[in-house]
Amino acid sequence: MWKQTEKFYYQLKKGWCLFFLIFLTGCTTEGDPSGPAPLGSIDFQLVNYLNVSPGFNNGKTVRFRNNTIQVFVEEGVEDLGQLTIWTVVSNGIIQFNFVNMVPSEGIIIRLGQTAPFVCATTSMFRFGEDGSIRQATITLGPLYNNPSFCRNTIAHEVGHAIGIFPHTVDGGLMDFDGGNGQVTEPVATAITYIYSIPPSTDLTPLVRPGF
Ligand SMILES: [Zn+2]
Repeated sequence: MWKQTEKFYYQLKKGWCLFFLIFLTGCTTEGDPSGPAPLGSIDFQLVNYLNVSPGFNNGKTVRFRNNTIQVFVEEGVEDLGQLTIWTVVSNGIIQFNFVNMVPSEGIIIRLGQTAPFVCATTSMFRFGEDGSIRQATITLGPLYNNPSFCRNTIAHEVGHAIGIFPHTVDGGLMDFDGGNGQVTEPVATAITYIYSIPPSTDLTPLVRPGF
């Protein structure tokens, strides 16, 4: 039984970086790919913003129940190796296991159509009774792996699928256009923390009011 079947819609858009490159010498921002920070430096406001604030679980955290997430990939999808970036930045806490049929709990990656300037979307989230993510479906647009148009598309969408819902503005992978392709340290720390505690944890005592 699904608690909810929702079509929350996240997408990676082509940025306008190329346009402005005519005028600027460069427009990427350096990220810090050095991995998660120690537990003492968790930015709970950021965890709240990235994972809790969209409100999918009544103010509690949202994640897959298992740290090894099943992934079903439609034939023809390329560049799947990108998703291991989440295993690397979480120091192995988040793992992926490819399966040959649609999992009852896991991520589905398929080829499809997307709107103009949209590289891919992540939608069709299903949540369990405990607020955990049961399924997330990633739809890759026709240009998802065209390096002059879309980059790091699968890595970005898997970020949404595992629980980073809004976009960041830190120059990293979870910016609306995928940034520089690196998971910034605060985001890495946030998602590692989410997968280090049980689904549906109440972070209210740790988050300052007003955020
Ligand atoms: Zn996105």
